[in-house]
Amino acid sequence: MEEQIKNLLRQVIHPETQRDIVESGLVEQIASDDGRIAVTLRFTKARDPFAVKIKNRVETLLHEAYPDAAATVIVKEGGTAPRPEPKLKSTTGGIAHVIAIASGKGGVGKSTVTANLAVALRNLGYRVGILDADIYGPSQPKMFGVEGYLPEAVREEGEDRILPAEAMDIKLMSIGFFIKPTDALLWRGAMAVNALKQMIHQTRWGTLDFLLCDLPPGTGDVHLSIIGELKIDAAVIVSTPQQVAVADVVRGVELFRNENVRIPVAGIIENMAWFTPEELPQNRYYLFGRGGARRYAEANGVELLGEIPIVQSIMEGSDEGHPAAGIDPRVEEWYRAIAQRIVEKAVKGC
Ligand code: ADP
Repeated sequence: MEEQIKNLLRQVIHPETQRDIVESGLVEQIASDDGRIAVTLRFTKARDPFAVKIKNRVETLLHEAYPDAAATVIVKEGGTAPRPEPKLKSTTGGIAHVIAIASGKGGVGKSTVTANLAVALRNLGYRVGILDADIYGPSQPKMFGVEGYLPEAVREEGEDRILPAEAMDIKLMSIGFFIKPTDALLWRGAMAVNALKQMIHQTRWGTLDFLLCDLPPGTGDVHLSIIGELKIDAAVIVSTPQQVAVADVVRGVELFRNENVRIPVAGIIENMAWFTPEELPQNRYYLFGRGGARRYAEANGVELLGEIPIVQSIMEGSDEGHPAAGIDPRVEEWYRAIAQRIVEKAVKGC
């Protein structure tokens, strides 16, 4: 199938060079499985004036040739992004984009949002991994039903590699696989930084389009350590309506915007924005106030990426090890819109 698509794409000629896009190396990747096709184009020139035209042409060709498939065309610009020199021979070289998910406080749904975003990105055809670095409450193993997974190490090309857990095609490495819930917080902090380094550089991530990094709430040593080890392309802040204006969120945004850090903030996701009872689907109850995130976003030059209401299926999905974005079509739709926006921003720069 990939070969067929490649041949199809040979019809697309870059108007400037007059060469087809396959021959000129603009087709970085073709992936297909289960009715989904994802084509990644990389234009070496930033803001290639023909990028949009070529993307549209590729989309049209794919739709014509595979009318039943869900086709996504991803445009990347510039050469492959430079990554920091790893101290260990790192396994992060195959990761295209790292997105950090942060929050001011615990309990706002950061981990739930990370898990559902991962599923939404996977549903769009991307290869996704999660690095769960939330040392205070590593909940990704539970969200994906892989608690108790014991990461195995294998020796490859003279290096130790740690095998991640895999669920719903998503590769998952969690600090929760290494610490016990009974470990004292102080001990966790001290252990975490070293363990995280190993998790980042030694996990066999393979090729990933997106690695979502579930950070601990607030700002602290773990954040600094991860920022130092991984080239984070963008940060996403999760908040509930009543938490959005408090100092923690503001500090979170400032951490990324700090001149020594300079990580673009892709935007804010307002979680638990309203509540709709099953029996009154038209009604929205703004239990924690209304419009807070939008006001905050406008005042601080941050995009509001989306709002997610309180929904029973979201809570149940997390408890049962199947994020709701993979089961409940409404939840899937909300998260798809947010995921698409994040993809656009990650590719074009925030
Ligand atoms: P955090 O990672 O910020 O500490 P969690 O993701 O663990 O927060 O979420 C806290 C609790 O809230 C969990 O029980 C989760 O299932 C629930 N929850 C999160 N978002 C929603 C939502 N939109 N609707 C219903 N329950 C939610």
